[in-house]
Amino acid sequence: MTFLQEKTLAAQVRSDFPILNERVHDKPLVYLDNAATSQKPIAVLDALRHYYEHDNANVHRGAHTLSARATDAYEGARDKVAAFVNAASRQEIVYTRNASEAINIVAYAWGLNNLQAGDEIILTVMEHHSNLVPWQLIAARTGAVIKHVQLNEEEGLDFEHFKSLLSEKTKLVSVVYVSNTLGCINPVHEICTEAHKVGARVLIDACQAVPHMQVDVQAIDCDWLVASGHKMCAPTGIGFLYGKLDVLRSMPPFFGGGEMIADVYLDHSTYADLPHKFEAGTPAIAEAIALGAAVDYLTNIGMDKIHAYEEELTAHLFQRLAEIPNLRIYGTKPDARGRGRAALASFTAGELHPHDLSTLLDHEGIAIRSGHHCTQPLHRLLNAPGSARASLYFYNTHEEIDQFIEALKSTIEFFSGMMN
Ligand SMILES: *Cc1c(COP(=O)(O)O)cnc(C)c1O
Repeated sequence: MTFLQEKTLAAQVRSDFPILNERVHDKPLVYLDNAATSQKPIAVLDALRHYYEHDNANVHRGAHTLSARATDAYEGARDKVAAFVNAASRQEIVYTRNASEAINIVAYAWGLNNLQAGDEIILTVMEHHSNLVPWQLIAARTGAVIKHVQLNEEEGLDFEHFKSLLSEKTKLVSVVYVSNTLGCINPVHEICTEAHKVGARVLIDACQAVPHMQVDVQAIDCDWLVASGHKMCAPTGIGFLYGKLDVLRSMPPFFGGGEMIADVYLDHSTYADLPHKFEAGTPAIAEAIALGAAVDYLTNIGMDKIHAYEEELTAHLFQRLAEIPNLRIYGTKPDARGRGRAALASFTAGELHPHDLSTLLDHEGIAIRSGHHCTQPLHRLLNAPGSARASLYFYNTHEEIDQFIEALKSTIEFFSGMMN
């Protein structure tokens, strides 16, 4: 095979994503906001439509055929998610609306019942608001104290500082796997090993990891891991909480209602087995089935292939960003082959407001994010009111990165012309 015949991963998959043909301000869409949400392939859109056209019925309730089909598809998708993250049992996968809801379930069902005044919760300064606010609420209710791991010189997680915070007071460590702002990939297995030595439990926020690389909950050895479907080619409204079986068993239910019970009396109830104990009410059936389709889609491509291709894109992105003077890029740097960080870049360009930047790029059809990316404390620490962020996925191309860079250059030139 000659070099020219070899197609990149993006070239092979782009036709699976109808929205990539969209035009914005009469320019071809260049979608670089994948850390906020990913686009959806036809296989996922078809799964939604197929369910409503052929199988729509409530799950776990009816003896009729459609209900059995809906239940099979819904529970079948759980098997796919369990295999995708290498859970030891399908009972360890609880469907949630998103990662935020998954963290809140742990905070309320576990935190409220296991934390006392003076106990310590270790978070990091780079956490998403979803992994900060629930713990602030639980700390206020229990008197637990929150400590934050600082950044090292490279603007990654300071592992030595993390170790120095651990003590017998530490009851919980909750850490992001891949930072949605800094792009660093945190050593989650080593974090679990150190935390377990002092008897603490560990939650991993894997929102930016599960869509982009092979994630193995048993190898990580975390107690809980959370992710959102919508960042991994699935619809909004579906995510999951992984928890070790004995840990989930030890937690009381958080939401009460239908689906989560075994027997209900007027004054008390007994609860369903895992994972249903945590799934009250009619769930997002179509969305869960479509999450299963997204897992199939990603698995068919291969997470290793996706990760390797994203490293190529990362190398190209950082090489091209380096051409632009006075650009402040946050977080750890990739090596020359794009390894060691996520395929995203958060940056500021001098005095130029990130929002003005993304607005002008939008006029060129280029979608990037501006703001605090739900990491306000981190931006405060970095002395930046906000940043612009370009975040990639496996359907993005080198050419799209080039278009982004050219548009970024001319935008910066335009503004510096205005300021002179
Ligand atoms: C997106 C994201 C979340 C929150 O996900 P939701 O789908 O909004 O619940 C949490 N943490 C990280 C790192 C994220 O990127």
